[in-house]
Amino acid sequence: MITVEDLTFTYPGGEAPAVSELSFEVAEGEVFGFLGPSGAGKSTTQNILIGLLDPWQGRVDVMGKPLGSWGRDYYGRIGVSFELPNHYLKLSARENLDYFAAMYDGETASPEEVLALVGLGEDIDKRVSDYSKGMKNRLNLARSLLNHPSLWFLDEPTSGLDPVNAVKVRDLVKARQAQGVTTVITTHDMLIADALCDRVGFIVDGRLVECDAPSALKRRYGTREVVVSWGSEEAPSSARFPLDGIGAQAEFQRILQSETILSLHSQETTLEDVFVQVTGRTLR
Ligand code: ADP
Ligand code: MG
Repeated sequence: MITVEDLTFTYPGGEAPAVSELSFEVAEGEVFGFLGPSGAGKSTTQNILIGLLDPWQGRVDVMGKPLGSWGRDYYGRIGVSFELPNHYLKLSARENLDYFAAMYDGETASPEEVLALVGLGEDIDKRVSDYSKGMKNRLNLARSLLNHPSLWFLDEPTSGLDPVNAVKVRDLVKARQAQGVTTVITTHDMLIADALCDRVGFIVDGRLVECDAPSALKRRYGTREVVVSWGSEEAPSSARFPLDGIGAQAEFQRILQSETILSLHSQETTLEDVFVQVTGRTLR
């Protein structure tokens, strides 16, 4: 769906490139996440992919052709949710959506339909100035679905959302994926990235430093060990065993069979731990 090779971009007047020699691919139907701290270059990358920034160096192909050879029809095929919601505050959600829907040449979804998807069905005729930050964010998502995009770009879609609504966003992306939609998402929310993305790219200082499935990253950087503790709460004993060949590990077997087990933990890391380990940086 997307092929990027050696993408480099410097803002006018910028000293260093905001993104440097990025190379990655996004497969059709995939949910691909860019993960990185603030200022890493995530939004810049998205804005290049949606055709808002140039000139850049490198190669970018989207949906089978070079980005530069797409015309206005590109915007009929993609959906974009920007990091900072841009709505008309004096208008209702319905009026906003009617307004933006009119810009598309093709058939568009109704305001009712897209607002229901993000749980704002009841608030359709409320003025957007009366929306909370999280509601504006969800309205932003609804708007990005008006044209039934097959490629969906989401920049920090869960920022400002409480955990319940963050889960709704996750479910919405999953539901779109089930219908074949490809999604590129930027986030610094590790839990969302882990739960949602088929693959994630770690981006720091404009460079992609690691890229793989969350499960593969956790396996690669985690410790394949199990820690068992047993005995009494007051004076517990504990030991570590490698997961490889654990079925034939006599001491491990003995403990399981003859001791009172207090806890048994395999030592997978979290995606956040992997990020810190790989980049030496935290996400906050
Ligand atoms: P992220 O989305 O990962 O937080 P950005 O892509 O917004 O990061 O920013 C990457 C770098 O580019 C940062 O150093 C930022 O200060 C710089 N930058 C972002 N937007 C602009 C702009 N419009 N003009 C100049 N520099 C910018
Ligand atoms: Mg950003």
